[in-house]
Amino acid sequence: MTRAFPSGLVNLATSLDTEAGSFLDSTIHADRVTCKVCCAPVDGYPMCHPCQAQVQLEIPVADRVGIVVYAVEPDSQTYRVVRDYKGRRPGPSHRAIVSALLALGLRGHTRCAQTLAGIAIDGWAVVPSTRSRSTLRDLVRETTRSPSRELSIRFTGAAGERDFRPEHWVVDSDVVPRHVLIIDDAWVTGAHAQSVAASLKRAGTEYVSILAVARVLDPKWGPNRAFIHEHLGGGTFDWTRCPWTGGSCPS
Ligand SMILES: [Zn+2]
Ligand SMILES: [Zn+2]
Repeated sequence: MTRAFPSGLVNLATSLDTEAGSFLDSTIHADRVTCKVCCAPVDGYPMCHPCQAQVQLEIPVADRVGIVVYAVEPDSQTYRVVRDYKGRRPGPSHRAIVSALLALGLRGHTRCAQTLAGIAIDGWAVVPSTRSRSTLRDLVRETTRSPSRELSIRFTGAAGERDFRPEHWVVDSDVVPRHVLIIDDAWVTGAHAQSVAASLKRAGTEYVSILAVARVLDPKWGPNRAFIHEHLGGGTFDWTRCPWTGGSCPS
């Protein structure tokens, strides 16, 4: 049974579908077909290599990750949207598409993240860019219904750093929320978002959920190529699908 969504969100989703439905692909949650953390193809394993490597470090990271769509490198339309929306010259609709995907995830399914955790979200943070632009944060600020719950995260590493380095992401807050929602645009290995999650956990946050707009897939890796060929290619976008469960929303 599909749950009811607020009419403003339905209108937004309908225009997103008209604008971008032909090329967007919703993420797929399927045991041993896609990673149980980040929805990347896994070729029979429970997790993808980067997520598995993170688990082996035994450093507490996010408890749950929700990702809205896939973005195939290097030239699928979705990839161009998530890569270029924060550039100096984004395509005419790039920012609007990312903004709509964020709004769908945040307004449509934040409640789901709370239900699954059993803990109300009392703080949110955007993964800051390692290159100082803050387009994502601006878009989230326009969308959120709880602006006062923003936590500021400061990146102290070198521009362009890609590794999992929790010590390079500083939480600038004296208050430690119980459940923080971290928002990111493109998940490649998850190193940045998971570094922020680890940093929050270290500060005392009990539960961390990460919502990302897109899981970036590299088609050069064999299992990705087969998965892309079989399941993606545009037109599989279902805006009512819950990014946290891959199916219906938890009640
Ligand atoms: Zn993964
Ligand atoms: Zn949901």
